[in-house]
Amino acid sequence: MPIWDRLGADIAELDAAGLRRRRRTISERQGSEVLVDGRRAINFCANDYLSLADHPALTAAAIEGARHWGVGSGASHLVSGHFAEHEAAEKKLAALVGCEAALLFSTGYMANSGVMPALVGRGDAIFADRLNHASLVDGALLSRADLRRYPHADTAALERMLGESSAPRKLIVTDSVFSMDGDIAPLRQLFELAERFDTWLLIDDAHGFGILGPHGGGALRHFGIDSPRVLYIGTLGKAAGVSGAFVAGAHQVVEWILQKARTYIFTTGSPPLLAAAICAAADLVEASDDRRMHVAALIRQLRTGLRHPERLLASDTPIQPLIVGSNTAALALAAALFEEGLWVPAIRPPTVPQGSARLRISLSAAHRADQVDALVAAINRHSP
Ligand SMILES: *Cc1c(COP(=O)(O)O)cnc(C)c1O
Repeated sequence: MPIWDRLGADIAELDAAGLRRRRRTISERQGSEVLVDGRRAINFCANDYLSLADHPALTAAAIEGARHWGVGSGASHLVSGHFAEHEAAEKKLAALVGCEAALLFSTGYMANSGVMPALVGRGDAIFADRLNHASLVDGALLSRADLRRYPHADTAALERMLGESSAPRKLIVTDSVFSMDGDIAPLRQLFELAERFDTWLLIDDAHGFGILGPHGGGALRHFGIDSPRVLYIGTLGKAAGVSGAFVAGAHQVVEWILQKARTYIFTTGSPPLLAAAICAAADLVEASDDRRMHVAALIRQLRTGLRHPERLLASDTPIQPLIVGSNTAALALAAALFEEGLWVPAIRPPTVPQGSARLRISLSAAHRADQVDALVAAINRHSP
């Protein structure tokens, strides 16, 4: 059998295991309401928690940015692809999250896979929460440091592992808000361990930026953490409604990342029009207390309305996972809800552990109370 023909059997195997992934195509969008695969539906899938992605002020900033700068940046940041809009966005973002400096990356995936190899290498050790995002796992592998994974949020286990390590440089790395579980890492205790064992602490705040902390300033502000050993990653395609990411920290470590991160150096600078939109997004995030309060009310509404609230994981964030168990049951429930115009993704392994397939309900400021009521009623009807 030629090498490409084996793929047919491999794909059939994915199908049989309920693991084949499929895309749905959106042809219209207005806030949480979409026309998707020809059906009107309420979108409970997106990470656009503050509903900024189609905000008129962001659209206007992007259009104005395109008028002023054109589209492409033309080169990498270190050659000639770095514009005044990028500088302005970095300053705004650093101030918002409470750090000295920030550096823009094209995506969060690239930030994570570039920052970790810049900090540690062969012979060093990385201590990672078992439920960390895939991009942090890939960053750890790229660094060639020894990767040690501790049980989810288990600071006692982490303490033992740190005590046993004689690696010259150590890095603790964690999601702040876990992307498929919605819970928040024990960042205070992790920071104390980082101090005691003299390690770096890398915090991926992809789902906390814009949501946690005063004015959405994120996890560092939420926990009152401020230290040159901390690196903060914020992503801009979720609550901020744009695209891209940034790493923030003390001047010196950000300067080091700029010198060393291969995913910063060897890629074209992101379009300056996006940086213009990011500047507008930073202002909107800061001014969105009313949107954050509305989302918090929707979270309470969902958690108190379900007939089986124990099937929800413990989460105070807009990520509300409903555990179903088997892949086929999760797919069937998602399909039944979709038939009713309620679009909720079924999340299956390898994104989550075997046997914990779930519906990952994402709430956003665009949702109305009656839409959450409709979701609650449908889930109750389908779960005996
Ligand atoms: C989405 C996500 C990323 C990747 O960010 P992108 O900008 O989408 O590449 C990284 N970490 C976590 C925890 C995420 O949820």
